[in-house]
Amino acid sequence: MPAPPRVNPVEFLRQKRDGREHRPADVKAFIDAFVAGEVADYQASAWLMAAFLNGLSSKETLALTQAMLHSGSVLTLPSVKRVRVDKHSTGGVGDKISLCLAPLVAACGVAVPMISGRGLGHTGGTLDKLEAIPGFRVDLDAKRFERIVREVGTCLIGQTETLAPADKRLYALRDVTATVECIPLIVASILSKKLAEGIDGLVLDVKCGGGAFMKDLKSARALAAALVSVGKGAGKRVSALITDMSAPIGRSIGNALETREAIEILRNAGPADTRALTLELGAEMLVIGKRCKSRKLALPLLERALADGSAFEVFRRLVKAQGGDVRTIDDPSRLPQSKVQVIVPAAKSGYITAIDALALGVLAIELGAGRTRADQKIDPAAGFELHAPVGTHVLRGAALVTIHAATRALAKRVEARVAQAFSFDPRAPRPRALVLARVKLSSRELGHRVSGQLVTRP
Ligand code: URA
Repeated sequence: MPAPPRVNPVEFLRQKRDGREHRPADVKAFIDAFVAGEVADYQASAWLMAAFLNGLSSKETLALTQAMLHSGSVLTLPSVKRVRVDKHSTGGVGDKISLCLAPLVAACGVAVPMISGRGLGHTGGTLDKLEAIPGFRVDLDAKRFERIVREVGTCLIGQTETLAPADKRLYALRDVTATVECIPLIVASILSKKLAEGIDGLVLDVKCGGGAFMKDLKSARALAAALVSVGKGAGKRVSALITDMSAPIGRSIGNALETREAIEILRNAGPADTRALTLELGAEMLVIGKRCKSRKLALPLLERALADGSAFEVFRRLVKAQGGDVRTIDDPSRLPQSKVQVIVPAAKSGYITAIDALALGVLAIELGAGRTRADQKIDPAAGFELHAPVGTHVLRGAALVTIHAATRALAKRVEARVAQAFSFDPRAPRPRALVLARVKLSSRELGHRVSGQLVTRP
């Protein structure tokens, strides 16, 4: 006979259905009972929908986060003596920042234990990008993770079975019950996994724009404020940058292509926007980690670590420690290369005023760079190289994009739609901001403070 539930699930559901607030102890009991198999999936699904429709207060969101966090093991990394700070991005197109950011911040003295994900929908995943490096292993156990963080300063692995198992099960239900797009549920899902890494602080990169989950600044601000507030409620130092995702980041979309771009950044080169975003997030991490007092003091430290090769050296050591072939880092032409490359020319002359990140993200999946089902294999070489960012003036016929594909037929299938992702105008567009807002809680934590337009996109 199954053990009796520690919470009456029907009463718990009725509470949320009627818009009442749960007690934190009841939230914990419900999640514990769900993980123990004492609450059925249909009951959890009904609760998710009630929470979606009626919302969760910040107290309930914190209780849910903590219940999900403690549904599995929580790493403490006792042998890592440095302060530990991670970054989480809510997902974008061409977002390869973690690959260059983690070694860069580690080179500046803050440890970065990073548990990452795979591609989700049109957005790419850090693990898939790292696995473009032949031999690179992301399935390391907690002991090895801790050893590499201690010895190298950073380690990037995938979610393990034991970390926040409640999230894995709840996310699977959300996915099939139309309850993904709900701020309190997103907050609990993200933070329960991140807080299980044994971190002291967390910087959130909340993406905003057509290629992101959050399409407008208002919803991005709401998500960022909720993440910061609940993260602080859980006792961590947390801040968030809201950053532009109206166009892809940098010049590449696709796993090996993005890994190559991250290597360029670590070699003190690469696209200006990828570099600027890496530096901004890095500065925030050094401030959160109390390594630097201000962003202004942190930026030169980060720039020096790029210029003197120390950030690149940490990446080399990381790749080696995680089983990757270091020769591909020293010579990125050894990374997987597509059989077919097709250039898409500009259909007219003018300034590029927009590049539809969502459209290119979806087309990259069609090329095999991402998945539509979790069990799909991906093509690490597939993707797009972008030759002309927003704001560039091009002449008709100039190369806009190189499509990297496994076959000519695949490249031809997406070619016209790739061209349509670009908008032109005879007039130059206004420069876009890269960091749209910074979100921190006020010192008395009475509410969140949001400041606007701080850094312009280079
Ligand atoms: N990423 C997560 O990990 N969880 C969500 O709910 C949404 C994005």
